[in-house]
Amino acid sequence: MKREQSEQLYKQALEHIVGGVNSPSRSFKAVGGGAPVFMNKAKGAYFWDVDGNQYIDYLAAYGPIITGHAHPHITKAIQTAAENGTLYGTPTELEITLAKMLKQAIPSMDKVRFVNSGTEAVMTTIRVARAYTGRTKIIKFAGCYHGHSDLVLVAAGSGPSTLGIPDSAGIPNTIAQEVITVPFNDINALKQALERWGEETAAVMIEPIVGNFGMVMPREGYLEQLCQLTRQYGALVIYDEVISAFRFHYGGAQTYGAFPSAEAIEPDLTAMGKIIGGGLPIGAYGGRKHIMEQVAPLGPAYQAGTMAGNPASISAGIACLEVLKQPGTYEHLDRLGAMLEAGIEAASKLAGIPMTVNRICGALSTHFCDHPVTNYEEAKDTDGEQFAQFFRLMLNQGINLAPSKFEAWFLTTEHTVQDVERTIHAAEASLKEIARRS
Ligand code: PMP
Repeated sequence: MKREQSEQLYKQALEHIVGGVNSPSRSFKAVGGGAPVFMNKAKGAYFWDVDGNQYIDYLAAYGPIITGHAHPHITKAIQTAAENGTLYGTPTELEITLAKMLKQAIPSMDKVRFVNSGTEAVMTTIRVARAYTGRTKIIKFAGCYHGHSDLVLVAAGSGPSTLGIPDSAGIPNTIAQEVITVPFNDINALKQALERWGEETAAVMIEPIVGNFGMVMPREGYLEQLCQLTRQYGALVIYDEVISAFRFHYGGAQTYGAFPSAEAIEPDLTAMGKIIGGGLPIGAYGGRKHIMEQVAPLGPAYQAGTMAGNPASISAGIACLEVLKQPGTYEHLDRLGAMLEAGIEAASKLAGIPMTVNRICGALSTHFCDHPVTNYEEAKDTDGEQFAQFFRLMLNQGINLAPSKFEAWFLTTEHTVQDVERTIHAAEASLKEIARRS
């Protein structure tokens, strides 16, 4: 497969855009470097690059494109919004419609506020939790990404808990010291952190179903215990549902049928983004009324946004949720997900390349290892070199994955059985080739 135009454009991009990309995850640095593929058209489950090559897309723009690219219902909603004016700076009825849809699907959110990205949503939940509790510390979980605001860009370390190691230059130690990182799925580590810092902790922030080191479910009873322990210390529970909201069913991870009691795992605040904007920029946060009333203009916690709640993003979000609400949507994603999982597992066995596939409905992650992946340490302890080979072999057969061993594959409502069959054949050939080379 030739990609000369992509290579040319990458050279130009490097001259004008830092690193040639507008988000580091788009670079091919983690898979051996070189020019990323420059796409110029996307429709349904497919991508076309600037050299005219076609790909089946499993990146789904890192999650938002759950109804496939350029879905006609969403495109029409965006067109109508554009004709009516894209930005008002006044309230609109559309915002009420989307807020009601979110509240109906995720009842822990008595009150909602729209912002422009997942980063903003998470960042503000932390401010609100601090305003409400009068405390400053945050407990988070190793490997969970919560956007690029200072406080949550603090990495994990080994051991039961780690205090304040920034994952980026430019974050003052005074900020990093406010963050405690503990391993996911280890209730004792959380207990120890709360015993030591619980009285100073404003919130425990978690991806209730993890999407950032592969797809990882919480162990049975983990979220229940987490909520109970956190509240014992007077801290708030914040769920980062930027990836998980509307991913596995019409609702959040917090209302997913896999958990025995939605009430026992209800958070105080929730951050969202991605899918709820139907492919346009959006974020939202919400939670219990008395906590959300900390936010300006009602309360002392300030948060604002020129672009927040803009009619284009809100219209795309409403249209996307309308598509997802159609009967059979998640059954389709689950069915294709199961097929893909079985096909990849069989291909890995046949080739003798150990792989662990984690799948939840239409989202799955492929880890090159022979052990389960239930936390970040296990996700790191996988063969990145084999993944890099797999990524490139798949790409050259027209299958577009995220260029990182940690990222999930996302199916959309537009993928078909034939797409999945083609993908499984490509995986068989790729894994066979990796085995031949090793
Ligand atoms: N939280 C989670 C769980 C995410 O996966 C992401 C983005 N991948 C974010 C927050 C940040 O969202 P955004 O990129 O829209 O700022």
